[in-house]
Amino acid sequence: MDKRFAWAPVVALVLAFHLVSGMPAIGQVTPYEESEKRTTPRYEETVSWLSDLAASSSLLHLTSFGTSSQGRELPVVVADRDGRFRAADHTEREGRVVVLVEACIHAGESCGKDAGMILLRDLVADTPESRGLLDQVTLVFVPIFNVDGHERFGAYNRINQNGPEEMGWRVTARNQNLNRDFLKADLPEMQAWLGLFDDWRPDFFIDIHSTDGADYQYPITYALETRGNMDPGLTAWAKTYGAAMAEIMAADGLPMAPYVSFRKWHDPTSGLVGNVAGPRFSQGYTALQNRPGLLIETHMLKPYPVRVESARKLVLHTLRWCGDHAAQLRGLVTAADAHAASAEFRTNPFPLSFISTGDSTEFEFLGVAYETETSAVTGGQWIRFSDVNQTTKLSYFNTVRPDVTVDLPEAYLIPPEWTEAISRLEYHGIKFARLASPAELEVQSWRFTDPHWRERPYEGHHPVTFNSEPLAEKRVFPAGTVVVDMNQRAARVIAHLLEPQGPDSLVKWGYFDSIFERVEYVESYVIEQMIPTLLAENPTWAAELAQAKADNPEFAADPWAIRYWFYERTPYYDDRVGVYPVGRLYSRQQVRGLIGG
Ligand SMILES: [Zn+2]
Repeated sequence: MDKRFAWAPVVALVLAFHLVSGMPAIGQVTPYEESEKRTTPRYEETVSWLSDLAASSSLLHLTSFGTSSQGRELPVVVADRDGRFRAADHTEREGRVVVLVEACIHAGESCGKDAGMILLRDLVADTPESRGLLDQVTLVFVPIFNVDGHERFGAYNRINQNGPEEMGWRVTARNQNLNRDFLKADLPEMQAWLGLFDDWRPDFFIDIHSTDGADYQYPITYALETRGNMDPGLTAWAKTYGAAMAEIMAADGLPMAPYVSFRKWHDPTSGLVGNVAGPRFSQGYTALQNRPGLLIETHMLKPYPVRVESARKLVLHTLRWCGDHAAQLRGLVTAADAHAASAEFRTNPFPLSFISTGDSTEFEFLGVAYETETSAVTGGQWIRFSDVNQTTKLSYFNTVRPDVTVDLPEAYLIPPEWTEAISRLEYHGIKFARLASPAELEVQSWRFTDPHWRERPYEGHHPVTFNSEPLAEKRVFPAGTVVVDMNQRAARVIAHLLEPQGPDSLVKWGYFDSIFERVEYVESYVIEQMIPTLLAENPTWAAELAQAKADNPEFAADPWAIRYWFYERTPYYDDRVGVYPVGRLYSRQQVRGLIGG
């Protein structure tokens, strides 16, 4: 997958423009700088500029990692000191790290793209600030992830945002949000990204956004997964790294706060809340893959050049930090992968979701003064932020505890007909084997009751909620059944896909919806004729029915409900409705018996 772009005509045009206009040659200034920091380049201009920069330097290589829904190539630039531009060149890392940086997953939030282009140009120009940055680091940079959304370009895409003059659109051409798609992987862009991620297995990941929300002094906020969803060694490392970055950025005059939400929307005095990011989000997903991820949220109300500069600085400092701590980070990542694949990992309850403990600490918040006004037109209250800085002490609700936990099995079994679920394992780089012949196995599973589907679509789905009852039974799994051994580094990802109670489980997203459908029914003239015989053969039923009628007058007045009461008690009634077809094996011996190892 090392396609070069065919951008020659565009490059020629842009070159001609530069020759005629007498502007500096491409590679010296970015399109954003050339516009005096007012605009951000379109897709083709971005790619042609990067293509030219890469052509001018042995440090850079531009390729594509896939294709969008509308057929655009997904660009990625690799920066490596020794010209090792393929993922395969980095299987042995020995004291070096790979950092994946991505911009424009929300294509209207373009500061990461412009920051990254400047950073790459500075690497090529060997500026003092970037000197030595690639000594221990290979940078993999995705300038525009949501390429189709990026080309829905206009001045009216982000009403809350202060520049650039025009920008891309938040979601993809299919109106779906890539930053909700990391686990369910519906979109071709995400499937390609997961391939890129699995190819490179970067040691550190950065995702660059611009936030919405209240006003405050910080030009930039950040999130790291430090509350229990990532390997403990990496979590401790991420905490140290985050604290160091906050200090370094403050010294640059760019104070940085954790990305938090207010307990009450837009009301800073209500206190700050820090949460665990679920696996649908970028840094929540990489945490499950045993890789620390940094979410950057530059502040939408700050001028565009401030946002670009804040993002550039934080990426620059992060690359420097990752390089300076390369051996340490590499060691922790390797240990985390090994631990997730160990039997010991499966001995602890695995948290699928978290809730706040309600405990708080004091946080010195660099806010701005504001007044609450009442609108004469709408009658609503709103906050008018001022440009007066105001530092306040706020309660920071930053501790969580596991909410739903599960005992991890040794393996999952997915019957071969559940192809969407199986293809998702492939997208995530999860290894599995298939049964060569049918096998009858005692498994643990679930029976779901009381399903409810969300009425309005969410990310192209109608997610389902349900109650789960544990179910232990013997099942025959056909040949071709997928056996997912948990003895692998992506064990956390597997659990989130296949444990139904997970916030982004495939069951909740609707990939198993058909199990909830009852497909056979009984005719009234059939069951009515059977009822006298059934009552005769089952002497206790008459009293039970009388009790059920007494307990529920609605039932007593509904002939069909009474007919179903009998139908449910016959062997004709399908008791597989609502039964999860995925089985769990808790015995290592059973797994060995199936697939060896
Ligand atoms: Zn965003």
